[in-house]
Amino acid sequence: MNTSENKKSSDNICEDCGAVVAEGKAGCLKLFEEILAREFSDYRYGKIHRLTVDAYSLQHPDAYMRSGKSFAAHLTGIYTALESEDALAVNQTVQKWLSTNPKFDKPARLPEQRGNIKVTYIYSAVDADEHSKRVQEWARDVWSAWSEYHALAKRLVGEATTKINNS
Ligand SMILES: [Zn+2]
Repeated sequence: MNTSENKKSSDNICEDCGAVVAEGKAGCLKLFEEILAREFSDYRYGKIHRLTVDAYSLQHPDAYMRSGKSFAAHLTGIYTALESEDALAVNQTVQKWLSTNPKFDKPARLPEQRGNIKVTYIYSAVDADEHSKRVQEWARDVWSAWSEYHALAKRLVGEATTKINNS
């Protein structure tokens, strides 16, 4: 019997995204924070910052999508980054809409499998170009894991656009 070994191996997996990383969930968060620091200190990395945050949030919804507002912000953020022509303008519209505290109930059930690519893949990028490419790949992978919620993302953006343009 070697229960300490078993415990040790499960401790090295992030319970939210499944990343294999020392200290599990805490270690996963540390990698994310180091990536954010890289994005803040170097604009070549920073260009894709918003998508990094959205992808990580969709893989860790317990921490980052707890409220209806944060749920809507990250879900529509990744949706517009990947599927809209003018993500910046759409995100601004959504932000304005969310700042009016629209009534919105977060779905009770969220995906259990939230993508194959993990934050470790982003962390090991060797330069800014690779970083951007990997964040894109990661976001697409996470987004496809959330396929059941694509229609909801579209609906929220539509609602935001209608409300803000008519106000
Ligand atoms: Zn994780």
